[in-house]
Amino acid sequence: MELSRPDIEALRELLASPARKIVTLSHTNPDGDAVGSSLAWAEALRRAGHTVTCIVPNKYPYYLDWMAGIRDIVIFKHDDEQRAARAVEEADLIFCLDFHSLSRLDALSDVIAANTSARRILIDHHLNPTEPFDLSFSHPESSSTCYLIYRIIEALWGRQSISKSQAEVLYVGMMTDTGNFSFSFLTPDLFHAVAALVETGIDVPTIYNNVYNSFTEGRARLFGYVINRKMRILRRGTVAHMSLTEEEMRRYWFQQGDSEGFVNYPLTIKKMKMSAIFIEHHDFIRVSLRSRGDVDVNLFAGRYFNGGGHRNAAGGKSFEPMAQTIARFERAVDEFAAEGLL
Ligand code: 5GP
Ligand code: MN
Repeated sequence: MELSRPDIEALRELLASPARKIVTLSHTNPDGDAVGSSLAWAEALRRAGHTVTCIVPNKYPYYLDWMAGIRDIVIFKHDDEQRAARAVEEADLIFCLDFHSLSRLDALSDVIAANTSARRILIDHHLNPTEPFDLSFSHPESSSTCYLIYRIIEALWGRQSISKSQAEVLYVGMMTDTGNFSFSFLTPDLFHAVAALVETGIDVPTIYNNVYNSFTEGRARLFGYVINRKMRILRRGTVAHMSLTEEEMRRYWFQQGDSEGFVNYPLTIKKMKMSAIFIEHHDFIRVSLRSRGDVDVNLFAGRYFNGGGHRNAAGGKSFEPMAQTIARFERAVDEFAAEGLL
């Protein structure tokens, strides 16, 4: 992956005048990459003399609570609509991290639309960004936004500038978006970056345990339930789907983040090509999709669920009830297969 020299110089220029008011934004249901990239970038900007407010639309999952600086993130939906709106209103620069369309901000997108004077800079690795930006680092060939942030910090200030606390949060995003370094885009350069992070003294096993071995008992039981009772397998073992209603989640004391990773599990079955989970929210159903190899769930999510993401990991929404959502998915799978896409 190569960064554009002119774009890096344009970014350097934007950051050259001290004491800019800066907002970083990331997507709804912020994950390790969203939070890690926001925190690491904020630390770099603050060190360069700027005032930074990190904002996310809703709460991050509890297994990220341990991350340094996470409590300073403004959570639009729960704690602080006014504070978020004020920071956005006053911002000179708005960095959009780890998302490619304002629709991924839900209600927060109206607040962003209200500030028309701030420069907007995209740093992201999703396919097909839809909004115009003043400056854009859009790299779908990067495994995570944290890796992009690493490369941008390296280009602007050198890798020696990366502190241990930045390295820790960058590692979280690189680790979670690659499924602990097991998905795609695992380039030699990524591992060089990881080596540089490890050189700052971060404790890799502790980070792993903090993220992956810190769930609740309810989550373990919900996982058993959804795999055992709710997984349906179609098309001779190549497609799986699962669903969770609000009532089922309440039964297992569901907390935000508890369903993270469930959708990956059917892909541990040999020959499985595509997996989906449907999770009921108050007024819509969140659709999560994963695939192996050439099966393009970014295309699938865009076509049938008004969403997107990456080729092997994508998502969208359904505004129909659960039964209709599942029926629509099954019809879509047949259509996709008939076109030779599955
Ligand atoms: P997850 O299944 O982990 O929520 O999301 C997988 C990938 O799909 C992520 O990269 C995420 O950004 C993307 N994604 C999830 N939901 C949506 C959505 O509603 N719209 C779009 N465009 N992308 C989504
Ligand atoms: Mn990401």
